[in-house]
Amino acid sequence: MKALCWNGVKDLKVEKVDDPKILNERDAIVKVTMSSVCGSDLHLINGFVPSMQAGDILGHEFIGEIVEVGPEVRQLAVGDRVVVVSIIGCGECEYCKDELWSLCDNSNPNGILQKKVFQYPTAGIFGYSHLFGGYAGSHAEYIRVPFADHGAFKIPDDIPDEKAVFVSDGVPTGYMAAEMADIKPGDVVAVWGAGGVGQMAIQAAYHLGAERVIAIDSVDYRLAAAATHSKAEVINYRDADVLDVLKESTGGRGPDCCIDAVGMEANSTGIEHYYDRTKQFLKLETDRPAVLRQAIAACRKGGTVSVVGVYAGFADKIPMGLFLNKGLTMRGGQMHGQRYVPLLFELIREGRIDPAFMLTHPTPLRDGPKAYELFNGRTDGCMRAVIMPQQAN
Ligand SMILES: [Zn+2]
Ligand SMILES: [Zn+2]
Repeated sequence: MKALCWNGVKDLKVEKVDDPKILNERDAIVKVTMSSVCGSDLHLINGFVPSMQAGDILGHEFIGEIVEVGPEVRQLAVGDRVVVVSIIGCGECEYCKDELWSLCDNSNPNGILQKKVFQYPTAGIFGYSHLFGGYAGSHAEYIRVPFADHGAFKIPDDIPDEKAVFVSDGVPTGYMAAEMADIKPGDVVAVWGAGGVGQMAIQAAYHLGAERVIAIDSVDYRLAAAATHSKAEVINYRDADVLDVLKESTGGRGPDCCIDAVGMEANSTGIEHYYDRTKQFLKLETDRPAVLRQAIAACRKGGTVSVVGVYAGFADKIPMGLFLNKGLTMRGGQMHGQRYVPLLFELIREGRIDPAFMLTHPTPLRDGPKAYELFNGRTDGCMRAVIMPQQAN
């Protein structure tokens, strides 16, 4: 089959690779029909996540059709149209049973590698480096799905592909960001990052009772989408002092909840940006935490900071004095998608969450490298390129 492979920093190629096979009794093989790019893929492409190897297949957000099941798969059958959660959970361990799927004890075969960095292993993720299990990704014609009964969900007939594909990753990540922000009716919520996850966090925040949601980004078309499709107020941080605007527009109080949907490659302005870029280049920090600093600074006293933007390791100059003295709560995590999928189908059906507008660039597999270039460069109005591996290649 053909697949989009990582060969080095900003070096992607469509290659011929072996077809996936059932390796364990609970595996299924899925014929991929749509696989979205994701902001967190950019960290791999730009070389900020260790343990990538030449030939690794990218992609973790996908839908498709079941074409083969292992003998212990009970809930799925050949022909089912499914969305697969990007993070892999065994369904049996203490964490999966607690619905903390991204903390699964059993789904990362390279847990020992990961323990060296995180002290404890976390769940495997499709197409997301050897640190996260070394699983083949979904920018391919076929993919092996381990623990399929837990990770693959049949898509209801009335939910079209262009909405269902984002239930794999972007929608649950945004929803969990809003849920962790502990939004109360009437709250003001600030969301840094108006990409796919940020947009879904905005829509989820309104659903959970926010009165106002303010989106912060530097790319005008993403801010325009946040205003039009997700109904947010917007701030372009290149044109305004974010802290001043947030303070002024909340009567001097600050937002109740601050969501970081950007993570380790945050851009900022002025000296802070050069400081972080230099430290990251010299490997004195792995992450550029400009958004996290700003969220902690902007948040009202006693408010909540929710972090879903991906961080890899260590970040510098986190304002702990502000965090402590303002009595903030901070929560973070990779999303526990399996917990949310049935609810998200319901919210999509009711129109409370609508991700379809994010599919700006449907792309055949052969044009995968070009799609990533557009997405990485934030050009051509690209919210999300979605790779269609079954289209003529
Ligand atoms: Zn993702
Ligand atoms: Zn588990």
